[in-house]
Amino acid sequence: MRLFSRRRHTTLNTHSEPAPVRGSAGRRSRRGRVLTLAAVALGLAVSTVPLTTGSAFASVQTCLTGTLKYTATDAETGTRPTSVARNVNWELRGQTTAGGAETQLATGITDANGNFNACYNGASALPSAYVKFNSSSTKMWRVVTDKSDTATEYTFNSNTQYNTSGTIGLGDVTVPSEKVYAFKIVDVLNLLYWKRGTSSVCWTGNQATYNDCDTLTVAWGANNAEGSIFDIRTRKVLLNSNEPDSKHLILHEAGHWLQWQLFDKHDVPVTGCDGHTFNKISSATCAWSEGFADAVAAYTLGDYRYVFKGGSSFDFTNDQNTVGWDQGDQVQGRVSSSLLDLWASAGDGGNWNKTISVMTDYQSDDFHDYFVNDRPNGGLSTTGAAKDFLVKHTINY
Ligand SMILES: [Zn+2]
Repeated sequence: MRLFSRRRHTTLNTHSEPAPVRGSAGRRSRRGRVLTLAAVALGLAVSTVPLTTGSAFASVQTCLTGTLKYTATDAETGTRPTSVARNVNWELRGQTTAGGAETQLATGITDANGNFNACYNGASALPSAYVKFNSSSTKMWRVVTDKSDTATEYTFNSNTQYNTSGTIGLGDVTVPSEKVYAFKIVDVLNLLYWKRGTSSVCWTGNQATYNDCDTLTVAWGANNAEGSIFDIRTRKVLLNSNEPDSKHLILHEAGHWLQWQLFDKHDVPVTGCDGHTFNKISSATCAWSEGFADAVAAYTLGDYRYVFKGGSSFDFTNDQNTVGWDQGDQVQGRVSSSLLDLWASAGDGGNWNKTISVMTDYQSDDFHDYFVNDRPNGGLSTTGAAKDFLVKHTINY
C-alpha cells in the first residue's frame, strides 16, 4: 500500500472547462469543442462545429456527410460483422481556391453511430474536398503503426469531391481492409473509456483537464514482432497479427495500461509471471496484475470470461470445488472472479467505480494489499458479502 497525494478535483465538472481547439487556426467555437468532448464521455451523438474563414463573404457552406464503417472478425461471436466506427477523428481537407494549396478545413470525430458531418463555410464552392480519417479518438487514444517514436497513425481518405458546395452525402465509407484492425481498436476502446469511472475527461482522476490527459497508445501492425503485451519501456500496448479479432485481448492489454494510470504512473513490481494462466498459481503480484486486466476486459464487455483471438474462451466461473483450479490469491482467475463479483450488483454497488476510486488513491501491491488494506482505507467493506465472494473463490483473509 502506498498512499498517493490526493488529487481530488476542486470541481468535478471538468467537462465544462475550456478545451483546446485542434487543427489549423480558425474561429471555431471553443464551447463547441468542449461539448464534443463531454459528448464523447457520455457516448452521445454529437454534431461538430465547422471551422469558418471569418470572412464577411463566408456564405457558402460545403458539408461532406456519411457513416464510417469497418468489417472485422469478432472472436467473441465467431462472426464477421460490419460495425460503425465511433468517435474516430476526421479531417475535412481540400482547396478553397482553384489551383491553391490543399489545407485542413475542419476537424471532428464521428458520433456514436459512426456518422460524420464535415462542414466548411467559405466564400465559394470548394474546388476539391475530401474527408481524411485517422486511427485515433480526440487525444484520448490512438493506434499507431509500431512502438517506435516515429510511428504514425493509420489514415485513409474518402473519395474526393470536385467543385462542390452544399451537403454531399458520401454514404457508407468503409475502412480499407488492411487498416481495419487499427480502426476496430479505436472503436473498441470507447467501451473502456465510457466505463472509466471518473468524472474527469481523462482516463483517471489523476488528471483533471483535457490538456493534462495522457493518451493511450496502441501499436498494432500485422507483421510487428511483439503482441499481447503492455510494453513497460514505451508504455504502449503492443498488438500484432489478428490479435484485434478479440475484444478481450485488446481490453486486457489496455487494462494493464489503465492500472498503471490509476497508480499515477507508478509501477507495481510483478514477478513470477512467465507462462501465467488463468487457473494455476503464478505469484501474488502476477495474479493481481493479470487478474485485474482479465477483470477489466470481462467487466467492460459485461461477461465473465476471456476470449482468445481464435474464438476459444476460458470461463472464469469457479468455486472451492472446481476441478483443475489451483487455490488462493496467487491464481489470477481467483482474483479476476473475485473482482468481478465485487463489481457486480451484490457487491460494491453494481459497478467498479469504488474500486477505481480506491486504486486512484492507493497503490495496491497485490490483491491482498488491495482487499485487506486499501479497501478499508477507501471505505469499502472487507466483511459480509465482500468476504464471501473471496471465500467462494478460495481466498481467505
Ligand atoms: Zn496481461
